[in-house]
Order: sequence, then structure tokens, then C-alpha cells
Amino acid sequence: MSYLKIQCEDCEKVHQIKRSEMEYEPVDSEVREMGEEITYKGNIGIECDCGKAIKINHYFWEYPEGIENHKATEVSGGIPVENTL
Ligand SMILES: [Zn+2]
Repeated sequence: MSYLKIQCEDCEKVHQIKRSEMEYEPVDSEVREMGEEITYKGNIGIECDCGKAIKINHYFWEYPEGIENHKATEVSGGIPVENTL
């Protein structure tokens, strides 16, 4: 199970978010040599015990079909300490 650990910017508490908690949807696609490349975006927002809002966007690109060939994580309000997404 892939996950992301994020440390709150304000109180340094570490939160763990599982990939299964994120909701993904295709946001872009492009036809290339070996078929379609699809961009998926997942996001989740949590609130730390200290009240800080932490937001995560996670993207991955599927190309060719069934293969994740690239991924990216954007975090606001926290610092990623471990990322296996
Ligand atoms: Zn906090």
C-alpha cells in the first residue's frame, strides 16, 4: 500500500495518508505513439489537530495503458517526510 507521510508546518505532527484515501480522476489525455497518455489527479485535504489545513495533490501519468510512467506530489501546509505514492 503506498502512502504519504506529511509533517504539519506549524506543530510538526506527522500525518499518514494512504493512496486508497485519495480520490483520483482523469484530468487530461493525449494521444501518443503507443496509445493514449492519461493524466490522473487525486487530492485530499486534512486538518491537523492544531487547526492547520493541509492539502495534497497527487498526479500520475499512465502511458502506455496500465503503466504509471511519471508521478508528482504537491503539498501545502505541510512537509512530505516519506512518499511512496
Ligand atoms: Zn499541526
